[in-house]
Amino acid sequence: MKYANWMKNVGEGFIGEMLRAAQNPEMISFAGGLPALELFPTHELQDAFQKVFEEQGSSALQYSQTAGYPKLREWLASQHQRNERLARIQEVIITTGSQQGLSLLAQTFLDPGDTVFVETPTYLGAIQAFEGFRANFQMIPCDVEGIIPSELERALQHTTPKFLYLIPNYQNPTGKVMGLERRKELLKVAQKYDLLLVEDNPYGELRYEGESIPHLVELGEHVVYLGTFSKVLAPGLRVGYVLADEDIIMHLEQTKEGVDLHSNNLTQRAVYQYLKQDLLPDHIQKLRQVYDVRRKAMVEAIHTYLGEQIEMVVPSGGLFLWGKLSGVQDSFDYVEDMIKQNVLYVPGALFYADGRVSNEMRLNYSCSTPEVIEEGIKRLAKGLRK
Ligand code: PMP
Repeated sequence: MKYANWMKNVGEGFIGEMLRAAQNPEMISFAGGLPALELFPTHELQDAFQKVFEEQGSSALQYSQTAGYPKLREWLASQHQRNERLARIQEVIITTGSQQGLSLLAQTFLDPGDTVFVETPTYLGAIQAFEGFRANFQMIPCDVEGIIPSELERALQHTTPKFLYLIPNYQNPTGKVMGLERRKELLKVAQKYDLLLVEDNPYGELRYEGESIPHLVELGEHVVYLGTFSKVLAPGLRVGYVLADEDIIMHLEQTKEGVDLHSNNLTQRAVYQYLKQDLLPDHIQKLRQVYDVRRKAMVEAIHTYLGEQIEMVVPSGGLFLWGKLSGVQDSFDYVEDMIKQNVLYVPGALFYADGRVSNEMRLNYSCSTPEVIEEGIKRLAKGLRK
């Protein structure tokens, strides 16, 4: 087949292998980023869909506006401050999950060979979305709070990227949080070099410790913010959004028109129906409680069964725990053994845009009960002993 050149390196790859392995009912998977299915507000969402059918019937099934259902856009705008005023509806576009937001941004901003700055390490799905538009990646050094402003400044002296992509809250994969001062420093550098920041925030509401910190988009200019209902409601809905300057939203709208005309009209209305009943805050409270118990169970099991073998970053929110294996060069080397032990993790190398070797691993704790987490960590310890 005459596929595009960049497809030459694309095969089923590791993720396909993991997904296949995860089908085994005996498998304990810490590999995905799945929210807990038993916590989805299924009945409330069913009622919301029902109501949309009853009250808006055919209009919910018709083609609709590319930028999204206006009432949902309005609701989202009302949730965000921008420079001491509320965001406006013209600054919001609904996307098919925030993954589509990443892809639309890439398609709208990148010419082949353009550089994108990313955190070290970063979200695998963002690497995939940007690679699709032939991006070059430059990884900016990070510390416990993420991007180091002086390192960013140093990189900007040599290279002009199209944007810097970052996840300031409970980063995927590391779980790190960027503090307020660091956010302000970063914005200062961005302003000095006219750098666009892409702030991805799927996990911000899943906070188990500490206070919420204002988003970059609320603190300064030149920020594109990506939000999603995937982690706080359900990922199968595929409802996300982008908040940015009106001009950027207009350009994204143009791109989206050619991609899918608009996101699912019925689902957008059902999500709005759910939101307007003000059910989300209590639901998020429940998620925080359950995930916090699971987070603690994983930390404890790691202490008990892996001890010195793993150096972990204990996250204060989100869905992931990031660990570094001692005495191991490449965490990929253990995947086959782990599959035999019926436990899965994601090797750290996948999160580095330069494909380097890594002795790290990402473990997800949200979709397993504390008992299953303990059993999974026991298996991991057994696999590592081999
Ligand atoms: N960004 C990050 C950092 C993520 O972890 C994810 C999902 N794992 C996404 C974006 C995509 O989320 P969705 O498309 O479901 O909104």
